[in-house]
Amino acid sequence: MPRPRARVRLFHAFSERVYALRMSTDIHAIVDEQLRRTRQRYTLGRRQLVEMLHAASRPVTIPDLMERGASQSQSSLYRNLAILEQCGAVHRIASTDDVARYELTEALSEHHHHVVCSSCGRIDDVVLPPAIERALGEAAAEARRQRDYTVDSHRLEFVGTCADCA
Ligand SMILES: [Zn+2]
Ligand SMILES: [Zn+2]
Repeated sequence: MPRPRARVRLFHAFSERVYALRMSTDIHAIVDEQLRRTRQRYTLGRRQLVEMLHAASRPVTIPDLMERGASQSQSSLYRNLAILEQCGAVHRIASTDDVARYELTEALSEHHHHVVCSSCGRIDDVVLPPAIERALGEAAAEARRQRDYTVDSHRLEFVGTCADCA
């Protein structure tokens, strides 16, 4: 597959999560259980995918995964990601382009937000300080008061232009 030049820059922009080493049997045990519940097996390919998603500091596309050396065909990647999504381990994200991006669900990672490039569709993770998350909790309470909903969680994304597109 020919590699467009832009991909090379994307690759350099990848950074490993600091806590990547924390990845242990915990996450694998949870995913294994989730797959069992949907009568699927935790194959080596799916295990590799979970590890790659865990190591990425942002939602990744299938070309990103190929670039990172996923030892699976593109069609296997699609199928395995779909199965991991069905069982609740992986979240598929729509961006400003038409390319699907994937990340582990928050139960398997940590609570975070996204910054989205309105030009190329790139998404990066943003972890906000506790004081801001507390303020967002107050905003949720206000939403509950105004509309009589129970509010379980929040989503917040920032839209702008990434360094490559600036
Ligand atoms: Zn961009
Ligand atoms: Zn938050």
